[in-house]
Amino acid sequence: MNLPADVQNIINVLESNGHEAYAVGGCVRDCILGKIPHDWDITTSALPEQVKALFSRTFDTGIEHGTVTVLMHGIGYEVTTYRVDGKYEDGRHPKEVTFTASLEEDLKRRDFTINAMAYNDSKGLVDLFGGKQDLDSGIIRAVGNPTERFTEDALRMLRALRFSAQLGFEIEHATYQAIKELAPTLERISAERIQVEMVKLVTSPHPEKIRDVYETGLTKIFFPEFDNMMECEQVNKHHMYTVGEHTIVAMGLAPADKVIRLTMMLHDIAKPVCKTTEENGQNHFKMHPVKGAEMARLVLRRLKFDNDTTDRVCNLVKNHDDRPEINQRNVRRMIIRVGQENFNDLLEVKKADCLAQSMYHREEKLAYIEELERVFGEIVAAGDCLKIKDLKINGKDLIEMGVPQGQRIGEVLKTIFDAVVENPSLNERETLLTMARDMLQ
Ligand code: ATP
Ligand code: MG
Repeated sequence: MNLPADVQNIINVLESNGHEAYAVGGCVRDCILGKIPHDWDITTSALPEQVKALFSRTFDTGIEHGTVTVLMHGIGYEVTTYRVDGKYEDGRHPKEVTFTASLEEDLKRRDFTINAMAYNDSKGLVDLFGGKQDLDSGIIRAVGNPTERFTEDALRMLRALRFSAQLGFEIEHATYQAIKELAPTLERISAERIQVEMVKLVTSPHPEKIRDVYETGLTKIFFPEFDNMMECEQVNKHHMYTVGEHTIVAMGLAPADKVIRLTMMLHDIAKPVCKTTEENGQNHFKMHPVKGAEMARLVLRRLKFDNDTTDRVCNLVKNHDDRPEINQRNVRRMIIRVGQENFNDLLEVKKADCLAQSMYHREEKLAYIEELERVFGEIVAAGDCLKIKDLKINGKDLIEMGVPQGQRIGEVLKTIFDAVVENPSLNERETLLTMARDMLQ
């Protein structure tokens, strides 16, 4: 295993001062998989104060849990003292952590065998729970007794599914059964921690693992709307799956972008509540995009997503099924409604949605999206006015014309903007000044 020079250096300094030190956890796992780790964690027998004394630049990131960040060449490395987690009384946090001199004890407290390996050049790979073999055979397995481990920290259940999605691994039988049994205890876990794991799962190479989040009973706890989708049949010629299966397939077909994948996850969230059945047995879902945007907002708020992500996802959910007749004017209006900066995302959402439907009118639907994309490109290339700011006049011009400052300025600009959107050739300074003068007569 090739440790980066800085990691090697930190380990050397600790070892030459009489301590043990290893790279540990995710970085060891990723190295064995031939992936480049996104960060390096070090575990050591040295106490936090001893670590701090040996390095010139350190931060007390989680000193009460034994973690000191050592800064080298602008990169922070988390150096954590070997520890045993004390009793978990609430299914979330250990009551206290105790430092230990034993690497084995430290590895035992970790969640999965593939995350419980340590490495340094002098001792080689330390793999006490068969992590290497599980990595080779693609298995997520709890360290020790899965029921006990999930009782200590219920978040580990969702982490198991997240790792299975990131790595394309299966969850070992007893570990999976323990998740099914203890799923209701996820209720104790904060929304923020659930969000982190869900984003990783949803943006992974295997977002379809969200099906297991449902089947184990976990979505029911923090996202019951998903269960309703999974249980919602859609008898409709455009569809061949339940709402939930369509959602899962659409997620897998969309690019692995956070906003786009979350949009796919939520785009049909309102179908179960908007469902109606015609006399011929066909289902319809009138207004589900608008209602869906409202429901998506509640879900994203509940999971404590930031406002920017929430707004962008809800906007895409709301517009996912918009299909105006294509001409320059309609598409300009659509770009303005959706926001130019969101339009490429909307096109991706539409493609994934279409490809997860039945073959009915598939070619026409794809041709429509292609045409929409083409006209969008034309409008952008033409530099058409798509924002009030793009107008060749501004508020200052109106003030000079004698319009009193305040609301009226905005109203005049908006009227002129609407006219320019109808007819982009009006966007000439003289033309707009004349228009404004006429309006103020
Ligand atoms: P990622 O690539 O997502 O960072 P990771 O394996 O590094 O994956 P982290 O959440 O950064 O995951 O945690 C680092 C290590 O700490 C894990 O590999 C695991 O050994 C341990 N760990 C993290 N969270 C838990 C937990 N809830 N219970 C037990 N061990 C945990
Ligand atoms: Mg990590």
